[in-house]
Amino acid sequence: MKSDDDGVSIATRAAHAAGGSSDDAGSLAAPIYLSTTFGRDAHGEYSGGYRYARDDNPNRRSLEGVLASLERGFGCAAFASGSAAAMTLFQALRPGDHVVIAHDSYYSIRQMLDELFVPWGLLVTRADCSDSSALASALRPATRVVFIETPSNPMMRITDIAGAAELAHASGALLICDNTLTTPVLQRPFEHGADFIIHSTTKYLAGNHDAMGGAVIAARDGELWQRVRAQQRLGGAIPSPFASWLTLRGITSLVPRVRLQDASARAAARFLAAHPAVLEVLHPDLPSHPGHALATKQSTGSGGLFSFRLHGGRDEALRVASRLRLFRRATSFGGPESLVEHRASTEGPSTRTPDDLLRLAIGLEELTDLIADLERALDTTNV
Ligand code: PLP
Repeated sequence: MKSDDDGVSIATRAAHAAGGSSDDAGSLAAPIYLSTTFGRDAHGEYSGGYRYARDDNPNRRSLEGVLASLERGFGCAAFASGSAAAMTLFQALRPGDHVVIAHDSYYSIRQMLDELFVPWGLLVTRADCSDSSALASALRPATRVVFIETPSNPMMRITDIAGAAELAHASGALLICDNTLTTPVLQRPFEHGADFIIHSTTKYLAGNHDAMGGAVIAARDGELWQRVRAQQRLGGAIPSPFASWLTLRGITSLVPRVRLQDASARAAARFLAAHPAVLEVLHPDLPSHPGHALATKQSTGSGGLFSFRLHGGRDEALRVASRLRLFRRATSFGGPESLVEHRASTEGPSTRTPDDLLRLAIGLEELTDLIADLERALDTTNV
């Protein structure tokens, strides 16, 4: 199931992601295969290559091939959401296995471990994986996987992927990297030693706020990968043919979208960093960011997401969010519309996100319009 990337650049591979198959009518857009079951030939064989849609479906198989190719992985298993992808990896472990998870990785995945997998028998340690000595002391002989997200969301901390891989491997564990924020356009965790990548394809890959999905991508064949595949087939948390098709369509424009969103986010971060109402901007492109040098070494950008904190605390953060006109007040990221979110409210009472923090997801609007909107919302003279 090795991906075939023809030696061409990621932009070209992505642009051709949704291409029709050679046995159709020559259409450039691939058909959507809604059939849940596939016929046997006269010899009783499934010569078309498909049997039942929970096992496999042409749209899902295309999506898995494209995602494996974009990350230059061995194979990909697609899921109904990013959470289902993460859940499958944890289910592929065994009770008694130990998991180290970055203490500020996506809050719902941490919650999933605490509420679903600790009662099931996984042993879980949260650690600041951006600090190599904290990660080293969290590892145990029973550690099977280390789960990182870099940059983290919404605090934008940077973890050294190569350093984390080295530590994990030295103690016999595998490194899983959530690459949702940066996408393979800006960061390739396998080149730095990660063993698995997960994605919420709901974000930049689908790219339009209209299709849920997730993926587990393996760097190579192995026991954990085979168990993920079995979980996918037996558990059935698969994306529908339509969601697979929408995600592939989104991927065709992935590279220019992410490059534009990354460039606009850097410019918006610089604008905010110079604004007197702003206490701090959390964006790795800023030289003041503690992870700046590392981020520059291991990735070419951090995408459209970043956070900033306001001098006036929670009330000021809520006031600014309510005054923005182009930024929609909604969770998620990766779509064409810019979004703003008071992250502590979304994460609930157990949040560790500061109350004065707003998370911005930069979309595809004209940068000057976005900056004008931020400037007007931050203005205190017309309150
Ligand atoms: N990983 C990251 C970094 C996320 O931001 C999210 C969702 O916001 C997920 C995983 C979970 O993905 P989904 O919402 O598709 O289940």
